[in-house]
Amino acid sequence: MLKLHKVRKQVIAKAVAVLDSYAVDPAIQEKLAHLLDEQPGRELYRANPRLLATHLRLPEREMLQILVIALKEGIVTLNWEIECPACHGLDFRPKHLSDLRSLHTCPACNHVHKTDADEQVRVTFSIDERLRKLEPEADDPEFRTRMDRRYGVVSGHRMLTLQAFRDLFPRETIPPNESLLIRRVAILFTDLAGSTALYSRRGDSRAYDLVRKHFDLLFQLVNEHNGVVVKTIGDAVMGAFTTPVDALRAAIAMHQQIVLLNQQLSLPSEDQLILKIGIDVGPCISVTLNDRPDYFGITVNTAARVQATNQGNNIAVTEALMQDTSVEKVLQSCTWQRRDQLLKGLATPVVVHYLFPN
Ligand SMILES: [Zn+2]
Repeated sequence: MLKLHKVRKQVIAKAVAVLDSYAVDPAIQEKLAHLLDEQPGRELYRANPRLLATHLRLPEREMLQILVIALKEGIVTLNWEIECPACHGLDFRPKHLSDLRSLHTCPACNHVHKTDADEQVRVTFSIDERLRKLEPEADDPEFRTRMDRRYGVVSGHRMLTLQAFRDLFPRETIPPNESLLIRRVAILFTDLAGSTALYSRRGDSRAYDLVRKHFDLLFQLVNEHNGVVVKTIGDAVMGAFTTPVDALRAAIAMHQQIVLLNQQLSLPSEDQLILKIGIDVGPCISVTLNDRPDYFGITVNTAARVQATNQGNNIAVTEALMQDTSVEKVLQSCTWQRRDQLLKGLATPVVVHYLFPN
């Protein structure tokens, strides 16, 4: 038995060492290897990522990033579980995002419902059986329920807004013609003011060099604030966040960092980058468009149109975002102007707030 355990320890240590090539801190690798080897089986079977995060003392985003890398390297497997809104039973069948459908039928009670990626779909991770074969008692639903109550679950939607998942599994998408219901997403659009003039003044390659630096900065800030870059359209970026407060914090950081970038590059005033940001929050659907995960619906259109009303150097947000109590504290660091704006495609004006971070 002891000898077997020694072999297991070595197998796990060897597998985890691969995380070196992803620049994962060696101290975290060591803790992860220890966790996978020593923790009781029930903590490694359909494990709530938040429980693992407390073991490794990592923020949720970092834990999820490491789990996604571990998934890529065959150290863990990912489960997409669907909770039935009628009987609260869990459907363990979906193995991939592509196994999810717009409508879900509960295998226990046959209830049919729209698949809600926020409230019903959750993700868990299990250790790959090639590293450690778990005993049958590891399947302990009562323990998992207790942990879910204590820590809260990680939703399918959170996984969709994890940049590392999108980067490492670009082919993991829901099937074409299917969609997932997203109860609440914050959509952020950015664009550069006067970029056509910038290109003509600086020439394509020098202007693009500047635009690329701005992309690198925005991508990093979206990721740091728990969001995902859905796509770029010309010089524009579309980002998605599970919470409005993350989107707003990202927007404020973008606003501040672009000012710094202009200073660092000592750009003449006419060549300075002017960022136009717009955010809305609300429901939408998650779809696959051009083989890539995308969002669709009024919230997406509103965010884009609110952004289009922005003249630059501020953050345009909708009334829905301002009314969200979670952003109250962040708003304390801003002043703002309220304006009635007619948005493209809408018959009546809507209220748009233009925020100026201090
Ligand atoms: Zn059911």
